[in-house]
Order: sequence, then structure tokens, then C-alpha cells
Amino acid sequence: MLTFFTDPYKDELLYSAFARYHFLSGNIDLKDTLRELFGKDSVIPNFELGSNLNVLCQKIGTHYNAMELIKKHTVFPYYSPFLPEQRKQEIINNICTSDAVGIFNKIGIIAGSISGKEGIWYCPDCAGNDLKEFGEVYIHREHQLQGIWLCPHHDCFLLRYPFDKTNTSRIEYIKLNDDLMLKDCNRAEDTDLHSKHKLVSKAAYFLLNNDLSEANKDTILKRYKSLLFDRDLANTNLRVRQKDLHNSLVGYFGEHFLNVLQSLPDENDEYNWLRVATRNVKRTVPPLRHILLITFLTDGHIERFFDDIKVENKPFGGGPWPCLNTASNHYKKNVINEVTVAADYKTRKPVGTFECSCGFTYSRRGPDKSNSDKYRIGRIKNFGPIWEGRLRYLLEQGSLSQNAIAKELNCASGTVKKYKQKLFSEGRSTSKSNDIMKKTKSYGRNLLEKYKGLIENCVCSKKLSRTEIRTQFSKEYTYLYRHDRDWLFATMPPAKKPVAIPNNRVNWQERDEKLLEAYKKAYSKLLNLDEPIRITKTRLGRETGTLSLIQNNSNKLPLSTAYLESISETKQAFQIRRCTNIIENKIKEGLPVRLWEMQREAGLNKEDFKKLKPELERIIDSIKGAIRSE
Ligand SMILES: [Zn+2]
Ligand SMILES: [Zn+2]
Repeated sequence: MLTFFTDPYKDELLYSAFARYHFLSGNIDLKDTLRELFGKDSVIPNFELGSNLNVLCQKIGTHYNAMELIKKHTVFPYYSPFLPEQRKQEIINNICTSDAVGIFNKIGIIAGSISGKEGIWYCPDCAGNDLKEFGEVYIHREHQLQGIWLCPHHDCFLLRYPFDKTNTSRIEYIKLNDDLMLKDCNRAEDTDLHSKHKLVSKAAYFLLNNDLSEANKDTILKRYKSLLFDRDLANTNLRVRQKDLHNSLVGYFGEHFLNVLQSLPDENDEYNWLRVATRNVKRTVPPLRHILLITFLTDGHIERFFDDIKVENKPFGGGPWPCLNTASNHYKKNVINEVTVAADYKTRKPVGTFECSCGFTYSRRGPDKSNSDKYRIGRIKNFGPIWEGRLRYLLEQGSLSQNAIAKELNCASGTVKKYKQKLFSEGRSTSKSNDIMKKTKSYGRNLLEKYKGLIENCVCSKKLSRTEIRTQFSKEYTYLYRHDRDWLFATMPPAKKPVAIPNNRVNWQERDEKLLEAYKKAYSKLLNLDEPIRITKTRLGRETGTLSLIQNNSNKLPLSTAYLESISETKQAFQIRRCTNIIENKIKEGLPVRLWEMQREAGLNKEDFKKLKPELERIIDSIKGAIRSE
């Protein structure tokens, strides 16, 4: 452990702190300094990114950690948001454990390749301030960034320090000497060009000093596509209109500025940086160019771009989310732990579906903008047994009007009406249950409600099984069994294993017919999804909550079984349906249909695509033919 260390100043490069350490330690031989800092003298100082930080942190004490040093005292945060997640980790690992040789290749950038900047750079105003405040000058990381020529804090063009790492030995630490630095700021004139440099420089500084850990190559690309779509620079399939994008971006910055930064995209180059940045390809694009694209897309508000990435990753914030089932005793309590997010086909906005264990399922279009959005329902997808039980109870009780019930259950009165018809057509409103209701009304209403609440609570929040409820709450169970069996059975969790007693009382034929109807409905619902999914027996079984019923009784349910067989899709059949959808949509929208695009758009692998190709060609022809003859 070292007896002292030169704590880095704000935005000071680690390299600069080491140089100060070397100076203050009084060591004459740099090798002694290296041994003290890194435990060995063969270390090659890495100017921008640092190296061997794990050993260093052990030597300089526990209040430092390598990750913090990388974030606050290297230029890594300038690159990191644009890297693939895995490579980020590899690079951090390299910096922590090795000399980090060849690290810029790993980043995908050859140092100095764009708007090359060699040597050590400084801002005279910053230097003046540092001298006043700390009595010494140091190397700022924000002045070393590739492609950045203006100080983000002052209107000064950056200057090159006259003595630098290119004209000294590779293993020497240069400590800035203020005598060698110009004191006068070469203040930029207030021109258009200057304001653009300033915008870019401030954006780069933003990257250094914000936690952008949600950002990586993938999330950035997604954000680009979404913004391009908003600006009509990409179509609904998120294909970028490259020519329009090129013209808009060049129009925004002007050719001259882009030329100064060596970043005017070459229209004839299939792999110009603008195309690479907006496509899912392996190459990486230097941060300066990402900054240009982001600045253009957000009109200079880089913070919005990254805020939106956070939102995009979590359009409905962090869970858990409330159940909005007014009939449950956990109404508005945060009991839903998962949200399923899908993109709306037309608007590309995220749609979240929230499914509670009580069966109540709702969705809404996001992203949420405020906390109160948490309680907003876009559409109720499923009411679930508790809600339905409550509705049935209210209907049977008969003391509330349809509208009042709708109000209490927070649904449209049409829904109440629909349910009423459905429930009563199922023959549940027998004179027997009316009798029960009459009796219950007089003495047991409170008890009934109380017990129902208790059982609901067991089902929803405690997640007890059927048997557990029956044994632990046998009094309540028995009471409800006697007084409102329908409600009880609708509310209890499904039995784990279907009881395989030959039950003569079950009218299998009737059940088969009902099931068939349910499957037909579910099938047409699945067919009409915006994002098609493969239709299988299991899927329909799940969709209708009858999976184990049909699996265990297929011989007693011949109609339903045969129907499921007939509509189940093979993988290939599903792929063809999916492609057909895409083709039809394109033709409808007047977009060109290109066979080679289908592979990516339908998410097919190479081999599947090859197999499907002749079929797809036939489909394209026949759809076009059908449209022509219309
Ligand atoms: Zn400055
Ligand atoms: Zn619920």
C-alpha cells in the first residue's frame, strides 16, 4: 500500500495523476514509480484509457475502485455507449488486468483515424483556472477526445502542448508545465461554425459525465430507428430511407462543417458511416459521428436521446405494477411483477400487458409519462374469475342497476350486459341459487363477503394451492361451498392435476361443442394479431385455459381435437403465413417487395429461407396478380 497518492482532480486523466505522483514522490527513475503503482516496472503507460487498474487499486487503497476510475478519469465513457455490450465488458477487463495494448483496435477505432488528434491538448482558460484553484495544471480528459476541437466549458479552441508523448520515450510520464502553455485563449468568433463545434463538444462532455450504462450498440440502433421513423426517415418496417437521411443530415450541419470533421458521408459508399450507424452491421462508428447523428436527430438535445433509451428499455418503469381489478381486495396494490412489452405494429409505440394472478389482465400503450399512468387501463384483455364472480354476485343479488354495477366494477355497462347474457344462458341463475341469495341476504351477507375476501386474498397474494386453502381455511371453504359454490369454484386456483375419475355426469358431447366454439374464437383472435405467432394446439389450449382438459381427454372431445389438429401450424406453414402478411402489407402500402429482404424481415435463418424461396415467389406473384385483376 502506498503512503500517499495524488488524488485525481475532476476529469483529470489517470495518466496525469500518475505523472504528478512520479513528480511528487521524488523518484528519479520512472521504473521505481511504476513498481510502486503497478507492482512491476514493465508497465507501458496508457494515455487515454489507463491499464492494470486492479493492481493499482490494491496499491492506492480501498476507497478507489477500478470501475470508478475508468468512468471518471479515462476517455472510455466517450466510446462505451456505442459498443456492443459484450465488447464493453472485454475492454473494461483489459484495462483492469493488463497493459491494454491494442485496445483501440478492440474498440473498433484506429486512434487518430478521424479528425486525428495526437499529443496532449489543453484549454488556456481551464489551465488558468486550475492554476488559480490548485496551484498546478493537469491534463483534462475532455480536451483529448478525438474529433473535439473546442473546450466544452469555454469558447476556446484547444491547443496542443508543445512537448508530448510522441517526442519522448514511451515509458515516460509527462507532467504539464504551465510555463510552456499559452495563457491567452484563442476565443472562437461567434459564427455558425463555432456554434456547431460547441454543440458537439458539449455533447461529448455529456457522454463523459453521465451514467449511460443502459446504452450500447443495440439500444442505440433501436433508438435511431425509432427517431428516424418519427421523422419519416424510416418506413413502418423500420427500413431507413438512406438518401433522405443523408440529405437531411448534410443539410443540418452543412458540408463545410462535416468536411472539417472529416465526416461527410460518401453517398457512393455502401458502407459510409451513416449507413453503418443505422444498420445492424458488425462495424463500429467513431463516437464523434454518433454525436453528429444524435445531435441532428434531437436537434442538439443529446440528454433526451439517452433518457429515451432508458424509457425505451423500460417504457412502463420498474415493477411491480398495480392490479386494477376493482373486484379484488388488492385493487391498486402493486402485485404484478412482470410486464410483457410489444411494439404496436402501426405506431411502433410500446404496448404493455399486465397480467395479475387473479386473472385480471389489462394493457395500455406506453411509454408511461407520469406516475399516475400506472393506474391507466388502455384495454381490459381478461376479467378473470374474481371479477366475474363479483359481477355474478352483484347480478344475482339484483339490488344494483346495470350502470351501477358497471361503475363499481369500472367497466362499460355493455360489458355487464354481455356477461349477464352469457352467465344466465349458462343456466347458472337457477331457482336454487336465488334461494341461496335470499337466505344469504338476510343474515350471511357480511360473512359471505368476508369469507370471499379471505379466499381471494389466499388465491392472489399468498398463492396457496387448492388443497392448502381447503385444509387451512376449511370453515370458510365449507361455508362458501354451501352458499356460493359457483363463485368458489371460479375463484379457487385450478387443480394441479385433473382428477381422473370417470365422471358420468359430465356431458362430454356438450362440452366438446362448447370447447370447439371457444377454440374457433381463440383461433380467429390469434390470426388477427399484429405480430403473428405460431398457432399450435398448446397455444390454443393455453389461450383458452383448457390445455390440460384437452390433453387429458382428447378421446372424449373428438370435435375439438380434430379441429385443433386441422389448424395447428407446422413451423414452415407459420413462416409462410408470416411472410404472406408482410408481403400483403407492403403491397397495400405501395412499397416494393424484394425477396431478399424477406429473410431479415420475417426473421428466417438462411436455410429456412432457401427452402421457402420458391413458395414465396409464387405468393408474391399471386398477390400481385390478384391486385391487378381487382
Ligand atoms: Zn476550458
Ligand atoms: Zn389481481
